[in-house]
Amino acid sequence: MSTLDFSLIVPCYNEQDMLPLFLQEAVPQLDTQIGRSWEIIVVDDGSQDNTAAIVALHNAKDPRIKGVFLSRNFGHQAAVNAGLAYAIGDAVGVIDCDLQDPIAVLIEMYNACSQGVEVCYGIRQKRDAPALLRFFYSLFYWLMSNTSNHAWPRDAGDFCVMSRRALNAILLLPERSRMLRGLRSWVGFPQKGFPYARPRRLSGRSKYNIRKLVDLALLGFVGFSDAPLRLIGVFGFAVGLVALLIMLSVVINRLFPHFTLLGYWVGSSPMAATILVVFLFFMGLLFIFLGILGEYIRVVLHEVKGRPVALVTTTVGSLPASNSTSVVSPTEVSNCPCEK
Ligand code: UDP
Ligand code: MG
Repeated sequence: MSTLDFSLIVPCYNEQDMLPLFLQEAVPQLDTQIGRSWEIIVVDDGSQDNTAAIVALHNAKDPRIKGVFLSRNFGHQAAVNAGLAYAIGDAVGVIDCDLQDPIAVLIEMYNACSQGVEVCYGIRQKRDAPALLRFFYSLFYWLMSNTSNHAWPRDAGDFCVMSRRALNAILLLPERSRMLRGLRSWVGFPQKGFPYARPRRLSGRSKYNIRKLVDLALLGFVGFSDAPLRLIGVFGFAVGLVALLIMLSVVINRLFPHFTLLGYWVGSSPMAATILVVFLFFMGLLFIFLGILGEYIRVVLHEVKGRPVALVTTTVGSLPASNSTSVVSPTEVSNCPCEK
């Protein structure tokens, strides 16, 4: 299959209101700014509304608008990865369909990518979101940029344009727990952030509920930071040191009864309460640490199972076979050897 100048991946979940508005705004701008050699791949992430029908309708009018339909709702990250597996552009972009990511910035990133900046990503400098959510977003990016195993740009979402080479490198990564913004910074190549203000959605609600946001944050931590695991060891070491000091003070008390070091801790009457508080504190920590270990074990289990990131039931428009082993395409589903 021949290549195109640009592929744009648009993940959609129940976006029957936003998708037509998005296409109405994006198509003319792509035509005037990029030329005619582009495709938009809308990934329908198991929507229950008319999103899939809208894609088919637009494809009938303009075959450059194509669709990849997932067999159920696999989540935003899976949908993005599924779309990337079908892209044939020399440059590939990812954008949400709710117009929170400006098309003008997309074009700016495309131009920079054409000039050799292989990974261009949007930086959400201002976001129109509730204060509590903004706080947790900042906390997440602060923690990630300070603890990640590689450079992790702050406030960079999935909105980006990448070169074919960078995309191929990402598609080659075998992991199933895929967070695009992490994989994208991991592959390296020349990278640049493009600041922009993120407005509110024009219509509909965010498809990210609290559980999905927590899952996304954990995907980042467990996938790209060893810090939580290391913290357990560092804490164990610190507690061991404190225990050693208390032991020393006991010995000194016994040898020199008039010289009381840490007397409150080792001899006086509030001892029982102290023991209880210390015991409960450490029990609490122990369970938190077990939880952290559990998270990493969960991801290892997920990887060992090796299930694909997403299952595609049908595609609309001229698309190649999936370019990634982590996305199962419709032909693979119908050619399954276990089927009679
Ligand atoms: N999305 C998706 N699957 C999901 C959740 C979201 O494909 O399970 C899409 C959604 O339709 C949108 C994009 O991912 O185009 C970003 O989602 P949303 O706008 O809800 O996230 P937010 O902007 O609030 O972070
Ligand atoms: Mg949004």
